Amino acid sequence: MEFVDGIAVVKTFGGGRRAHRRFVEACDAFHEFFRAWSRRTTSVTTASQLAAGPVTSLLLLMVAGTALVVTGATAPADLVPFALLGPALAAPIAAVGPRLQALRGGTAAAASIAALLREPAQPQPAHGGTPQGAAVSLRGVRFGYEPDGPEVLRGVDLDLAPGTVTALVGPSGAGKSTLAALVPRFHDVTDGALLVGGVDVRELDTRTLYRTVGFVFQQVTLLRATVAENIALGRPGAGRAEIEAAARAAQVHDRITALPRGYDSVVGEDARLSGGEEQRVSIARALLADTPVIVLDEATAFADPDSEAAISDALSELAAGRTVLVIAHRLHTITGADRIAVLERGEIVEQGTHPELLAAGGRYARMWRAQDAQQVVGR
Ligand code: ADP
Repeated sequence: MEFVDGIAVVKTFGGGRRAHRRFVEACDAFHEFFRAWSRRTTSVTTASQLAAGPVTSLLLLMVAGTALVVTGATAPADLVPFALLGPALAAPIAAVGPRLQALRGGTAAAASIAALLREPAQPQPAHGGTPQGAAVSLRGVRFGYEPDGPEVLRGVDLDLAPGTVTALVGPSGAGKSTLAALVPRFHDVTDGALLVGGVDVRELDTRTLYRTVGFVFQQVTLLRATVAENIALGRPGAGRAEIEAAARAAQVHDRITALPRGYDSVVGEDARLSGGEEQRVSIARALLADTPVIVLDEATAFADPDSEAAISDALSELAAGRTVLVIAHRLHTITGADRIAVLERGEIVEQGTHPELLAAGGRYARMWRAQDAQQVVGR
């Protein structure tokens, strides 16, 4: 899927050989898995099908019947109905196998649901606080996904001033996405605190939190509902004019009006959108929700080279006047950010504006030079 989805990027950036190798490896791995799996199950399935098959039951009846006739216990004519009806009885028995399989699948699904329901709910405050303003502060934030697993964030202090754009950069696996996910409280910090508008996110009730913090992440989730409903998810009461204004600002209005039923087209039915378009619908959703704080993943622009410019414009529209935390993957898109924080192995190792960090000649300056060199080679 990755290979096919990214074929344009693969071609453009000339990574064909490597991407192709990964594709071939994935196919080989599946081939191996499937062979091993079918080898394990084929003998059992074949044996059970043979045992419950009409030929087997006919054979059994004839052997047993002949024995009874020879010993004089049954008249030969009495065997005829058995011979005629016996094989027909095999079919219902053969149906038991697949039914059992379905039952086993159902039981496994029920167990998964039960496990999900057993997950403890995130603790909610008794009296929700009210955020004052749109500042976001991280104070000595530590976080690990597992209680005794490795720490992904190791004492992060960061201040996002209201109305400014802060970019998070750093190598893959540094903890950027993890840090961003803490702001809308997808996880709770293990230690330290994350404040939105001066209030710890754990002290905000969910409704207040989502009225304050919006997000546009890489994984766009569109519901099987109309495009208009999808955009209005954050503000269900919004009127059509507001929805259209948001879509226009997110550069996706023209695409929506070109759909068979326009804004009333249903996602997955008559609204088939590309990755980039879905991305812009999710930006429209965030624009309409109009939260003062926005967390976004700039990788969105990678999804679809064709709509990159449109996404970039939509993101600028979204950033205007809001407190923004952006996970940046390409440095040239964030040179204008009010602050750039460099994250490495769960710690902020540098922060400042683009010129400041370049002048400092540290980690960021090296990343910048490396990226420049890559671009030159790419050309
Ligand atoms: P980045 O966004 O900078 O690439 P991430 O925040 O995605 O980094 O990942 C930081 C570290 O946390 C990585 O070592 C990654 O393997 C780990 N990690 C990310 N998500 C999970 C998860 N859901 N469960 C366990 N570990 C995770």
